[in-house]
Order: sequence, then C-alpha cells, then structure tokens
Amino acid sequence: MIDTKHTILYDSEKCIGCKLCYKACFVDVIRWDETKKQPVFRYVEDCEHCFSCQAVCPKDCITVIPDYSSERLHQTFDCYR
Ligand code: SF4
Ligand code: SF4
Repeated sequence: MIDTKHTILYDSEKCIGCKLCYKACFVDVIRWDETKKQPVFRYVEDCEHCFSCQAVCPKDCITVIPDYSSERLHQTFDCYR
C-alpha cells in the first residue's frame, strides 16, 4: 500500500467527452464510462504525474495535483528526495 494524497480535479460540467484524457493516460488511472461518455478516475495513487491528461484536455477540465511528499513520487523522481 502506497501512502499518497495525489489529487486529480475533474470538472464534468465542462467535459465534451472527447476521450483525449483517457487515451493520454499510460497507466490505469483514467478509465472510460461509455454510458456517461466521461472519464472515470481510479487508483489515483498510481498516477505518474505526467500531466498529459491535463495538457490534452481542450476544455481545461482536469487539474493534476501531485503529493510532493509522497513515497510514490520519490520512487518515480529521485530528484525530490
Ligand atoms: S497525470 Fe499522467 S499518469 Fe496521471 S492521470 Fe494524468 S495522464 Fe494519467
Ligand atoms: S480530455 Fe477533457 S473534455 Fe475530453 S473527455 Fe477528457 S476531461 Fe472531457
């Protein structure tokens, strides 16, 4: 179990269902809800903070807020040690 407080903010009101965030996420954090045509965020502790989902979203629906004190971030980026 990795202790982390990573946060991903998502504004469903602005989402147009383009699926770009889902396609951009190379880990399993962003899933796709075919019924609602919206992304679903799961296991946010596994986010690798690449910010791709935030960058590709044409409606600025997503804000990735890494927990810079987390063990997971230190595993990924030694420079934060
Ligand atoms: S920041 Fe990168 S790894 Fe994290 S949810 Fe977005 S696309 Fe996935
Ligand atoms: S990239 Fe943005 S607008 Fe497109 S599906 Fe994802 S959250 Fe919605």
